[in-house]
Amino acid sequence: MPQISFATNKRQFHIELNERVKQYFKDNNMSQRGNSALFFKAFFMYAVVLSCYYVMVFVQPESVVLNLALLTVFGTFLAFIGFNVMHDSCHGAFSNNSNVNEVLGYSMNFLGAESRFWKVKHNVLHHTYTNVDGVDDDIFKPPFLRMSPNQPYNRMHKYQSYYMLVLYGVSTMFWVFWMDFQKYFTDRVHTTDLPKKKLGDHISFWVTKLFYIGFYMVVPIIMLGFSKFIFGFIFFNFVMGIVMSVVFQLAHVVEGAQFADAQETGVLAIDEDWAIFQLKTTYDFCPDNKFLTWALGGLNFQVEHHLFPKVSHVHYPEIRKIVIELAKKYDIPHNEFKSFGEALSSHFKMMHKLGYTPVLAKV
Ligand SMILES: [Zn+2]
Repeated sequence: MPQISFATNKRQFHIELNERVKQYFKDNNMSQRGNSALFFKAFFMYAVVLSCYYVMVFVQPESVVLNLALLTVFGTFLAFIGFNVMHDSCHGAFSNNSNVNEVLGYSMNFLGAESRFWKVKHNVLHHTYTNVDGVDDDIFKPPFLRMSPNQPYNRMHKYQSYYMLVLYGVSTMFWVFWMDFQKYFTDRVHTTDLPKKKLGDHISFWVTKLFYIGFYMVVPIIMLGFSKFIFGFIFFNFVMGIVMSVVFQLAHVVEGAQFADAQETGVLAIDEDWAIFQLKTTYDFCPDNKFLTWALGGLNFQVEHHLFPKVSHVHYPEIRKIVIELAKKYDIPHNEFKSFGEALSSHFKMMHKLGYTPVLAKV
């Protein structure tokens, strides 16, 4: 892994922010983790997913429209489980009880991927070195996508803003059947070594894959036949992959977000305090949209999430007010898109720029 360091001056913003947020929880006598509404939401989301599965696989309604609607809800709510239950739990933010976080962190395994790998990829690499090419695996999708101005360009990238949704659509299948195995057999996430596997890690990996094949493939094939299964399997994965990828990408691969390069030299000294760097690489979107705030598990408050990953997303709307106030005081940008359309269009435009310009000035 490249050697990366952050500047240690200009830390006053981060220090004051931590103090203010700590005081906020103290004043309101609240836990930083999830609340009962989050437990209810987790239960509701699992109930929706399992009900859709039961109806599609065992009740088998005749109506094509109803089946398509069920598959859409199934794929969307699987992504919602990822955002709301898995993401908070894997950060240790869902509950004060670490065992609850550990168990609900296996929501990732329920979705088909190994949570142990995701914790390294996401909690360590993406959260510490956001948008740093050479370390942040979220922006490393060669050869099909060029997601950072520092990455090599090929002619295919010119069309990436047109075909990226198809790649997002197959991303969950690719993750379950390829990327997870790549991590398992190489013991690496991008340029970073994974800790040595123990017996429990081997068991967790193979049980996850067997569960996935049994639950998402074998049972539907037995109950519905192969052709109905394969259509439904690809359809719901497509929905889930697009929802997941778009929501994660809107926070970082947009116009105006900062990128850094650790790939070329293997050594990078970032001339920013870590917290300020997070504000420059990350965007919020639709902070006033109640439905998206509920459904996306705080992933529309990515600035606050990056600054406080161990705080449950249910608190981000209030923390955002503190971040904005202090960002203003220290003259640091607090980036956000007011609407989903604005964020989506910025992601498309950024991908278009990255694909069209062989050498793009660092932004
Ligand atoms: Zn996170």
